Amino acid sequence: MTRPRLIIFTDLDGTLLDHDTYDWTPARPALEKLRQSQVPVVLNSSKTAAELNALRSEMGNTDPYIVENGAAAVIPAGYFAHKGGDGVDEGEDETVSFAAPRSEILAVLAELRAQGYVFDGFEDMTAEQLAEYADLTPSVAALAKQRLATEPLVWRGNGIDMSGFRQALEERGLRLVKGGRFQHVMGPYDKAQAMRYLTRRYQEFYGEPVTSVALGDSPNDRQMLEAADIGVVIRAAAPERLMLSDQDNVMYSDRKGPQGWNECVLTILAGKGY
Ligand SMILES: [Mg+2]
Repeated sequence: MTRPRLIIFTDLDGTLLDHDTYDWTPARPALEKLRQSQVPVVLNSSKTAAELNALRSEMGNTDPYIVENGAAAVIPAGYFAHKGGDGVDEGEDETVSFAAPRSEILAVLAELRAQGYVFDGFEDMTAEQLAEYADLTPSVAALAKQRLATEPLVWRGNGIDMSGFRQALEERGLRLVKGGRFQHVMGPYDKAQAMRYLTRRYQEFYGEPVTSVALGDSPNDRQMLEAADIGVVIRAAAPERLMLSDQDNVMYSDRKGPQGWNECVLTILAGKGY
């Protein structure tokens, strides 16, 4: 049997990383098998490029990655080196942006705060305050504050006010998307759009179709999981489970976070002839 060419796209918090400890090592067996099989693992997260780079070097990951809920895809220098070379700059990472700059979001948030909405965004917190709230080290929190195009925030008002806030954002062309720990204010793109873009790039590079496998645990992963050829819903730390509308080619993990990730990826690899 010819096995399909797989590309893994994965959320981090609560999916490849444990919700509380941020540990990815329970997924090491599956990651090692993917590496041996030369299956790329594209991190697709609400995290910043600075945070993802720190994690990629810790994991030994050299594949492209998607930052800030799909705001941009970053392709490492020379990764898709064209056969024969046709003027592609080999020296620099390629950043493909799908978003307007963060300054536009911060301007809208300042306007809404003046109208009485109460929230704390990353911009409003020092690295120390963010570290305390999200249980990060101050140095990691500082990386999380280096944002390109999205603003995560902690909502301090009530539920009714949040509906008004959400509507006010939508009137300004922005969205409020729930992640594992924060509400993310972002433009009208999502993790799926950047995944589709990179899938196309892989197909061009390989000259053959690829099979995308996406893993996630939260509502901000929904579009990515539904757009992938195979969607894997990892059991979340929160009690409510993400349910996809289309049940074809969907897998639900029994275990949470990286343990669930490990089991599901090994199952898929075995099923596809790896
Ligand atoms: Mg998550």
